[in-house]
Amino acid sequence: MKFKLTICLKLFLSHTIAVLMVSGSIGTYFYTSAASSLMDGLKERLQSSAALISQVIDAEKICTVVSASDVTQQGYLDVLEKLRSLKRMNPDIAFLYVMRQEGEKIFFVVDSDETEKQALPGQQYSLHLPSLLKGFTSVTVDDEIVSDEWGAFLSGYAPIKNGVGKFLVGIDMRADKIYDKYQSLRISGLVSLITSVALAFLFSRFLSSKFTEPIHMAIARCMAIAVGKLDEQITMRTNDELDQLLNAFNEMSATLARTEQKKREAFAALQRSKDELEIRVRQRTADLNEVNHRLSNEIAQRIIAQTALEEAARIDPLTRLYNRRAMMEHFDHEIARSTRSRRPFSIVFIDLDYFKKVNDAMGHDAGDCVLVEISIRMKNMLRSQDSIGRWGGEEFVVLLSETKLSDGTIVAEKVRRGIAEAPFYAHGEEVFVTASFGVAEFRKGADINHVIQAADEAAYAAKMKGRNRVEIEKTRQEGQPS
Ligand code: GH3
Ligand code: MG
Ligand code: MG
Repeated sequence: MKFKLTICLKLFLSHTIAVLMVSGSIGTYFYTSAASSLMDGLKERLQSSAALISQVIDAEKICTVVSASDVTQQGYLDVLEKLRSLKRMNPDIAFLYVMRQEGEKIFFVVDSDETEKQALPGQQYSLHLPSLLKGFTSVTVDDEIVSDEWGAFLSGYAPIKNGVGKFLVGIDMRADKIYDKYQSLRISGLVSLITSVALAFLFSRFLSSKFTEPIHMAIARCMAIAVGKLDEQITMRTNDELDQLLNAFNEMSATLARTEQKKREAFAALQRSKDELEIRVRQRTADLNEVNHRLSNEIAQRIIAQTALEEAARIDPLTRLYNRRAMMEHFDHEIARSTRSRRPFSIVFIDLDYFKKVNDAMGHDAGDCVLVEISIRMKNMLRSQDSIGRWGGEEFVVLLSETKLSDGTIVAEKVRRGIAEAPFYAHGEEVFVTASFGVAEFRKGADINHVIQAADEAAYAAKMKGRNRVEIEKTRQEGQPS
């Protein structure tokens, strides 16, 4: 897991360090001054005690005590008893003693020690401490703890009454007592330090969490905004600069919510416009489709009408055969084909014989019926690639595709027989009709009108030769090659 130095942790550490530094400095200062006061107090006590005791001991009582043998002197015993009783009254005092100075040397006179290590009168004290030497003339105290053969002590000195600078009283306070006092001072200092550290921790924890609480709340609200809750607000007040941040957040959140609302409204409006547009487009499309449909129907009907018109323009209304105009178109197509294939085609001209008599005998309507029947019969006798048309009145023209004159003559003969050999029926009565046939051949480069005319003339020749017969074009009759 990656270690993160969060603001909370930073604040906690900085507060803790600051409090520790402040409490440490103050603690050190107070500890140092307390230790120094303790030492000063002890020294003062030693000095004043030495001064007091010095006034109750008279040097005249012990001026004759100079050696161990003098311990029986009453003066010695009195002073010893006094010193011992004073020592018993004050448990802090280790030893009380009287010393005498002789030149450079210092000797014990009386020592309150009740052990075997008691210094006897005349025993020389080997240490020449400045404070001790000064103590023969004025009240003084050691600057620091001094060690000798009896132990480590802090001592106070004062010249005794009538001592004239040769006698002093000394008070020893054991170093361990002083150390005990220092120890209790250290313990109380340590307790204060631990208490201040604990308080520093608690205070730092409280302060950092209190400070970061609105930040955490702002983070949580930002996360909520990120997932779409745009109008999140923070009501917490911190009464410091963070308030500006939280106000800015609230403002941003409200602006976002308003923007989103406007966006939703704009989107809804856009959707409505789109729906309306779609409805309008659908309506227009339906209208256009209807118009299209109507137009298509109209066009189809016009095409049908036009086709019918074109058909009517090409078809003879009575016989339903091609009319003269349509036949001329067929001739044009056949001429093109004949030119490409270099093969001739034939034209047969047919004129019904004495048809006026049919009309006269049976009526014009019956004549029409016969014309229709003849047309059907002739058409049925021809190939699909051949064409037959009504040239006018009771005259017909046949186009025999890719057919030379000799073959055309055979076809004409077949049709002639087909008409003549079986009767037609008009108004329930049998009618026998014959026709005269003229055949001509179209060859490359010829004029079609001349060929038609040649066939017509051949049919006329057939009439002249008695009718109901087939004649070929005149030029061939004169022996021209076919
Ligand atoms: P032919 O050709 O043998 O010399 O005798 P024809 O009687 O056929 O003489 P022509 O060709 O001169 O007369 C044609 C007659 O055909 C005239 C008319 O009475 C009749 N005809 C022509 N067109 C029609 C028609 O559309 N309907 C009817 N019923 N008769 C028609
Ligand atoms: Mg005729
Ligand atoms: Mg005729």
